[in-house]
Amino acid sequence: MSDRTIAAISTAQGEGGIGVIRISGDDAIIIADKIFEPMYGKRLVDMKGYTAAFGHIVKDGVFIDEAVATVFRAPRSYTGENVVELSCHGGIFITREVLRTVLDEGAFPAQAGEFTKRAFLNGKVDLTEAEAIIDIISAKSKASARAALYAKEGALWNRIEKIKKSLVSTSAHLSAWADYPDEDIEEVTTDSLSNTFKEALADIRKLLATYDSGQAVKQGIDTVIAGKPNTGKSTLMNLLAGRDRSIVTDIPGTTRDIVEDTVLVGDILLRLSDTAGIHETGDEVEKIGVDKAKERLKNCGIILAVFDGSREIDGDDIKLIEEIKDEKTIAIINKSDKEQKFDAEKVKEKIENVVQISAKNGDGLKELEEIITRISGTADLNPSEGILSNERQRNAVVRAEQALSQSLEALSLGMTFDAVNVTLEEAIESILELTGERVSDVVVDSVFHNFCVGK
Ligand code: GDP
Repeated sequence: MSDRTIAAISTAQGEGGIGVIRISGDDAIIIADKIFEPMYGKRLVDMKGYTAAFGHIVKDGVFIDEAVATVFRAPRSYTGENVVELSCHGGIFITREVLRTVLDEGAFPAQAGEFTKRAFLNGKVDLTEAEAIIDIISAKSKASARAALYAKEGALWNRIEKIKKSLVSTSAHLSAWADYPDEDIEEVTTDSLSNTFKEALADIRKLLATYDSGQAVKQGIDTVIAGKPNTGKSTLMNLLAGRDRSIVTDIPGTTRDIVEDTVLVGDILLRLSDTAGIHETGDEVEKIGVDKAKERLKNCGIILAVFDGSREIDGDDIKLIEEIKDEKTIAIINKSDKEQKFDAEKVKEKIENVVQISAKNGDGLKELEEIITRISGTADLNPSEGILSNERQRNAVVRAEQALSQSLEALSLGMTFDAVNVTLEEAIESILELTGERVSDVVVDSVFHNFCVGK
């Protein structure tokens, strides 16, 4: 299949200034040459790599569009193969028409992610870099785009490479020492082995620790707005979302269903849900909402607990404080624009992060944003050092961690170096799977399955 020349529309489907049809494979330039008539200069087949020409796309003598053709010659292209990118006018009809013309000349329609898969198979990117490309395209915040770009530049790869090198050379040494006892090979000591394993384990665990904050950056932090009815939860949500989303009314308890929205607070993506308050109620429908809200409080990343600053603190407020005091919580004392009757000290005794705001006019929003940034755990994350960005990567690292722990344990139990080496090799296997150096087709297919056509 991979000797086929493939083509697809690589830009988003819709109306735009330009649309790009990408062709990749041995015959990419020959196929493009058949339908592209340059206005000036050489034909595409005579052009060098990294050069472009302006001309007409013509099919059976019929003029289809104007285009700029960019020629890349193997191996210096995105896929490592010959590539031509035809930049034509970006309309749904025109791009499809140009693609059809290319397919008529012998190219095959590209599968989802096939260009990047070829880049991987041709050694242009490792699997973590290929995954980073998906992340770059789907990034919804500056932080997630930055993390993905670093990964694309090989930040994760470099970090793994260091661990891998150390383990591979240790394993090779162990094998040599066991297999050729008569050769003059430096003796392996339990101490030196144990040090190497401990160092690698520490690196692996540090890498694992990047996963949660990495996910927080990429997917957003699951954030629940909790509090009694009428304290201003919907108003706060609307303030954060910057538009009207949930219904704001003066009748307590109107926000019954969980309303969700993804908002960008500073550099951090929050997946907000505005829940029904935590309070005693006889109303059945409302009760379901309250139960749902309690459930969500236990499982979310950050709780924004809203209190009405213009009223005295009451039993429901105290109940909420008790419910959430051990979670990652920010207590928001709302309605700072009104006369304050709420005893903030009662909250401060139990909850570290307390902020006064007016959801109505936006006072205190800056301070709230600062606290969110601080407690999100994303501030300590340095994506240039390489972070794990998905479950596949995390699984591979978890397996490496387990296998290496077993090696260390075998060592401390005084087992033979052969036995130690078995689990060490397992650890190496897992790491090679992470980078894609040794990985099954099923895994590769599932990675590229997440791509869109044209990438
Ligand atoms: P929820 O039931 O907790 O979602 O509360 P809402 O957001 O529906 O707000 C209840 C009432 O309080 C509405 O009349 C809001 O306009 C009002 N409100 C919300 N936040 C503020 C605020 O910061 N200051 C003032 N003065 N009123 C507010």
